[in-house]
Amino acid sequence: MSLGIDLSPALKQCNFDCLYCELAPSATVTAQSDIISVKRIVEELSLRLNEKIDIITLTANGEPTLYPHLNELIDEIDKIKQDTQTLILTNSATLVDANVFNSLLKLDQVKLSLDAVSHDVFKKIDRPDKKIDITKLVQTIISFSKQYKGKLFIEILFVHELNDTKDEISKLNGVLLEIEATRIDIGTIDRPPAYPVMGVSYKELHTISLMFDKTLPIHIASRVHAEPNNSYYSEKDILNTLDKRPLTMDDINLLLDDESKTRLYKLIKETKVAIKTTSNLEFLVPTKNIGRKR
Ligand code: SF4
Repeated sequence: MSLGIDLSPALKQCNFDCLYCELAPSATVTAQSDIISVKRIVEELSLRLNEKIDIITLTANGEPTLYPHLNELIDEIDKIKQDTQTLILTNSATLVDANVFNSLLKLDQVKLSLDAVSHDVFKKIDRPDKKIDITKLVQTIISFSKQYKGKLFIEILFVHELNDTKDEISKLNGVLLEIEATRIDIGTIDRPPAYPVMGVSYKELHTISLMFDKTLPIHIASRVHAEPNNSYYSEKDILNTLDKRPLTMDDINLLLDDESKTRLYKLIKETKVAIKTTSNLEFLVPTKNIGRKR
C-alpha cells in the first residue's frame, strides 16, 4: 500500500520533457517556482500515517528532486514514519547535485530512470534541459549505487525506434553491469504520451530482456496493454527460457499456452524449477541457477 506525496501539485515542473510523458508537453525548468511547504506536507502526512501504509512515495507532477526542501522533508518524514518505508521516483538528472545525492542516500528505496546512455538517444527521448550531461549523469548513478544501502531500482522505458535498437541496448547493458541495482524494471508506454510516439509490444520487451546480460536482475514491468502470445514450449524450451531470464507468473501467463503451463507445473513439482523471491516479486528460475548472485 503506497501513499504518494506530490511535490508539485499545482503544475508540471520538470527538467525533462519526455516524448512519452503522461503529462502535457512543457518547457523544462531546473528549479521549482511553485513550492509547497514542508509543514503542510508533514501535517497532511501525519493525518494519514495511522492507516495501513507500507511505503511513502515521493513523486511529482514533474521531477520530485527539484523540490528545494527535499532534504528537510526527508528528515521530517523520518521522524514520524516509524517502520514505513520511503521511496522516491526520479528521472535521476539532479543526482549530480551533491545535496540531492546525499538526500537520496537517506531513503529506504530509490527508483532511478535511465532510458538511454548515448547523448543523441537521451536527447531525443527525454528532451532534457540543455545543461544536463548524460555521461556525467551515468557516472553519478554508478557511484550512487555503490554508496547506497537501500533498495535501488532502475527503470528503463522503451520507445519504438528510439532506445530499442541493438546498439543502445548494448550500451545500456554495459552501464547496467556497473550499477549495483536491486532490480531493473523494463517497460514501455502504458498511457497516452505527450508526443506522437509508440511503445513496444510485450513480446518485444521479452526479446529486449534477453539481450541484456544474464546476471542482470531484469524485470518486465509493463503488462497493461500486453497482447498474450501464448505459444508451445517443451520442457527444454521452458528451462532454456528461464535460464536466460527468470520470469514471473504474469510473464508465463502471456508467453506459454495451457499445455506448456502444465509442463512448467510438472517441472516445479519435480523441483527442476524453483520460485525465488527478489524485492517482493516471485521469479521462476531453473533450480540449478538458484545460487546465482543476482
Ligand atoms: S521525467 Fe517524468 S514528469 Fe518529467 S517529462 Fe519525463 S515522464 Fe514527464
